[in-house]
Amino acid sequence: MKKIFTPFLFVLALSHPTHCSTATPQRQQPLQILVFSPHPDDDVIGCGGSIAKYIKHGHKVAIIYMTSGTALAAAGMATKLGVIREQEATEAAKTLGVTDLTFLRQQDYALSYSEPLVTTLRGLIEKIKPDRIYMPTTNDEHKDHVATHQLVRAALTQIKSNSIVLCYEVWPPLQRTDHKEDITDCMDLKMAALGKHMSQLGKKRFDLAIKALNNYRGIMTGYGTYCECFELLK
Ligand SMILES: [Zn+2]
Repeated sequence: MKKIFTPFLFVLALSHPTHCSTATPQRQQPLQILVFSPHPDDDVIGCGGSIAKYIKHGHKVAIIYMTSGTALAAAGMATKLGVIREQEATEAAKTLGVTDLTFLRQQDYALSYSEPLVTTLRGLIEKIKPDRIYMPTTNDEHKDHVATHQLVRAALTQIKSNSIVLCYEVWPPLQRTDHKEDITDCMDLKMAALGKHMSQLGKKRFDLAIKALNNYRGIMTGYGTYCECFELLK
């Protein structure tokens, strides 16, 4: 598979794709990163290690949660679960060092293309002006993840954005990995952030599954003990 960036030069290579031989990495203007998360835990699952790494290097990260993940709430408990999950997302983001959060509170498991929602996303992207965007890959089995991908893509098309877009894996592993990020030094923070999602971990220990996936990625790519892989949106 093609390696497009070395881990340490990632900041430089992606922020100045056509001028990467002239600048010094890490000490550039802080980059603005924007993460789209269909549910309150997908951000940490897909790119939590990378988020922590950006923060560690002095960059800025904003996260937008499309839904508050209430589809599996017991009858009459959706509002309460939404509050709990937003609190868990807030604590998880804080663990990674992120406080710039937006909750769009769209209906969980019913996310679909709509012009008003595309307009909302477009407005947020224009306001935040991200250098890089993270969102789920379209090759995902969850319809909300696919819808998020399509909605963000539609918004970007309207703006004609130059943002670099990296698609993360949540449940099905990516088939194509264009970028690999060594997150070994941030894996403890990622696990701590995943641990904040207590309402979900009681059903399935997906934190252990994600740790195993990141370990698998590290072993197979040679990018550290733990690695997050991404598909570049072209
Ligand atoms: Zn999700």
